[in-house]
Amino acid sequence: MVTTNLELATNEIITLTDAEKEHVKIIGDTYKKLSDLICTQCGYCEPCEQEVNIKQSLKQLIHWDVYKWDMAKRYYNMIGKSPMFPGKNATACTECGECEEKCPQGIPIIEKLKEAHEKLAIKE
Ligand code: SF4
Ligand code: SF4
Repeated sequence: MVTTNLELATNEIITLTDAEKEHVKIIGDTYKKLSDLICTQCGYCEPCEQEVNIKQSLKQLIHWDVYKWDMAKRYYNMIGKSPMFPGKNATACTECGECEEKCPQGIPIIEKLKEAHEKLAIKE
């Protein structure tokens, strides 16, 4: 979708100024960068044999990275402690790699889980 929109925006029929074209390019690059992060919550990567709650961990990582939402830390730390957040947090990952093979987005889940724990775990 980003590629199509960029093609449309740079089409000669649509007259954009150089500044506007540059602006469109910057927006496109930003979206491309962010799209590496985007977990669609499809759930194909689960279940994890170690019961890691992958979806919830990545969801809260996005909430933190994109929106700097304070509740992201709170929700990540509720994994395994509330029926609303079942399973285990990222520390239970044994890096078996099974989830990564199943993710249609090609998300480096193991690396993202580590990142989620680093950024979101509340040290007690
Ligand atoms: S790599 Fe980690 S999160 Fe993924 S299936 Fe294996 S143990 Fe679970
Ligand atoms: S399969 Fe990939 S996109 Fe789907 S929930 Fe798992 S990490 Fe997210």
